[in-house]
Amino acid sequence: MKFLSFAGRLQLITSVLFSIQNYWSAHFLLPVAVLKLLQRKIAHFLWNGHDSRRTKAKVSWKSVTLPKSEGGLGIKDLRDWNKAFILKHLIAVVNPCSTSLWASWVKKTIIKGSLWSMQCPYNASWIIKQIFLLRDIALQHISYSIGNGRDVSLWFAPWFNRQPICSSYDNQLISLSGLGKEAVVADIISPGGWMLPHSNFHELVVWKNQFDFSTQFDLAQRDKICWDNICGSKIRVTHLWDSIRRRGNNTIWAPFVWHKLGVPRFSFHHWLLMLNRVNTADKLVNRGVTSFDACFFCINGTESNHHLFLECPFTQRIIQLVFSHRCAMPPDLWSLWYTWLTSLNLKDIKDCISILAYQVIIYSVWRERNSRFFSEEYSSPAKLASNCLHLIKCRLHSSTWFAVESLRTTSLSVWSLDN
Ligand SMILES: [Zn+2]
Repeated sequence: MKFLSFAGRLQLITSVLFSIQNYWSAHFLLPVAVLKLLQRKIAHFLWNGHDSRRTKAKVSWKSVTLPKSEGGLGIKDLRDWNKAFILKHLIAVVNPCSTSLWASWVKKTIIKGSLWSMQCPYNASWIIKQIFLLRDIALQHISYSIGNGRDVSLWFAPWFNRQPICSSYDNQLISLSGLGKEAVVADIISPGGWMLPHSNFHELVVWKNQFDFSTQFDLAQRDKICWDNICGSKIRVTHLWDSIRRRGNNTIWAPFVWHKLGVPRFSFHHWLLMLNRVNTADKLVNRGVTSFDACFFCINGTESNHHLFLECPFTQRIIQLVFSHRCAMPPDLWSLWYTWLTSLNLKDIKDCISILAYQVIIYSVWRERNSRFFSEEYSSPAKLASNCLHLIKCRLHSSTWFAVESLRTTSLSVWSLDN
């Protein structure tokens, strides 16, 4: 496993390791210590390729667990993911249209009244206790789409202003209304509109004054529960997770790193470069790891991101050989590089090939640098350029984009890759 690339390990994490814990997360709110242990093992595997105690993490786990669009790798934080599953159970319990057998059993045997107003039973199971603990989070997102009002508790469900009416008004309101604790929203609905109890009691007058009579209902429909703007059976665990997860800022460069023609290992290396986490010699000198910061290829320059991955004559030679002055060629100055990258049109296949070509080149340059450093094996720019073109060609031939004949013909001929 340790011979897998970072991108290969990432694929294994998202497809295998994450799926294994998914089963348990779906049924139990796992203890925090267990989730921390699992996350540590996943982090060790990502960065080391094995489950060792020491982790040489290149990027913090907080950043790694952000979505790709926010500068992360899209690995989900296990605690947030587990919480989302428990919220899904909570929704099943309070959803009037739930078809879950388990939810029906919980409603009948444990939550005999309303989940929103009752205390958690002292002898409740771990999962039920965790559902009760997540009520406050749920209240920030849950609302009801009122249909005929027969399945929503009038006083205890948060159908009005996202709060149960009983928590916003004096307890006397229920007895003064004459509707009883078991009342449902249907009791104050008539075909002509809302029909609140007639009374001059102060509490009822206050409630009536604050009631929004424009609240919509549809007598022909059943009541539905909504999470933010998603209603009923359309609510997925990913929606729940997305609304409770830690958020980062959207990064402009993310779509250019993880583009449609991307190859995981090239995109991963590009991602590390964007986060300034490729261990070039200048960084190693700053950390006191080495005192030698000269470029392996030209000796005259200092090995830094901008030198190694763009300005070095060795890299420039490969860029010229691969691009051969085709469209959207990278500039030779680092100060212009970011503008070049972000000016590319991701919907244009030719621009996408340019990004792919650049990613292949910088990955190859980094491999060549390591090969010279660790194995003393040398390749010429011409050989590296030829390998790069071969890799680009392989990727293009496996792209679904290339099913379109016109795109395939133009792109391959522009890049002289038709043979
Ligand atoms: Zn150099």
